[in-house]
Amino acid sequence: GFKCGIVGLPNVGKSTLFNALTKTAAAQAANYPFCTIEPNTGEVAVPDPRLARIAAIGKSAQIVPARMTFVDIAGLVRGASKGEGLGNQFLANIREVDAIAHVLRCFEDGDITHVEGKIDPVADAETVETELMLSDLESLERRVVPLRKRAANDKDAKAQVVLMDAVLELLREGKPARLLKVDADDAKAFEMLNLLTAKPVLYVCNVDEGSAATGNAFSDRVVEKARAEGAGCVVISAAIEAEIAQLPPEEQKEFLETIGLTEPGLDRVIRAGYDLLGLATYFTVGPKETRAWTIHRGFRAPQAAGVIHSDFERGFIRAQTIAYDDYVALGGEAAAKEAGKARDEGKEYVVQDGDVMLFRFSG
Ligand code: GDP
Repeated sequence: GFKCGIVGLPNVGKSTLFNALTKTAAAQAANYPFCTIEPNTGEVAVPDPRLARIAAIGKSAQIVPARMTFVDIAGLVRGASKGEGLGNQFLANIREVDAIAHVLRCFEDGDITHVEGKIDPVADAETVETELMLSDLESLERRVVPLRKRAANDKDAKAQVVLMDAVLELLREGKPARLLKVDADDAKAFEMLNLLTAKPVLYVCNVDEGSAATGNAFSDRVVEKARAEGAGCVVISAAIEAEIAQLPPEEQKEFLETIGLTEPGLDRVIRAGYDLLGLATYFTVGPKETRAWTIHRGFRAPQAAGVIHSDFERGFIRAQTIAYDDYVALGGEAAAKEAGKARDEGKEYVVQDGDVMLFRFSG
């Protein structure tokens, strides 16, 4: 599955957020109750209003949403890259996730200690990022030495050294590896470096209860930082989300309205995480279920079919494809066919987010 790690300094609200995520109605959707994989790992349903619309048109008995995994990664303190606190364990846990949700404390509360002594989410973000950069720096410096020796008469090693040197230069300037412009030719090698700061980042601003709908002066600064870096950013109040997640669905809506929200902040966190991971969704519709399937953006039709079953990929013949907008506007498969909007796509077709698909394959 696709994993998003929740990181941040102590006492910023990580566990509160994680617990809310795993209690939310979306996590307990239909026939996929929330499941704890490990104590700090939880699967959630990706909220997608398109599912209900398609299911109503297609008269499906059930809805099966896409899923993604959140991991609560505790233990980051200043000095983690030097093994302080649970430093090494922490860094190893981050290495295993596909993207990072970085929780930043944007609320004041005299009763809850801030490890750095004052509320400054931008400085906190830099503290955490510095530890990750130091870790990448050390691991690259270690790996580049033997490669440099081989590079004299090994073309592949030489290419790798060039790539590593480019990353090292960036890190030494205090910039994360994800800011490197990587050629398509180098993409695989870059991925193989498995760097912590190459992972996409989503800032989650945890604001006080009164600022859930509007954000506050602290979160405004993070929004600005995220914009400058091309990172994702979501404003929530973890304390409020924890309360909402406890309520029955009919009361949730009312509660949200009273605080000026149209949907739980958690839905935005989940969706932003999904986007951050470079994921997209296609749908299958039948009398039994309407189901969302997760693919990487850019997947071709056979790869997308392979998400359902490897036989579908191996025996792929073609895919009847209806764009989501056409499916809804025309009112379903039969009408879409009649209007000539059910396309017959072959092996080269790049699946688009929202496509309603029916695969033909030979067994
Ligand atoms: P972690 O160490 O990052 O996992 O932080 P926790 O989730 O354990 O939260 C630390 C403390 O801050 C707990 O006492 C929470 O109840 C409190 N807390 C978390 N989010 C909020 C919030 O939005 N507002 C306020 N006032 N307190 C919060």
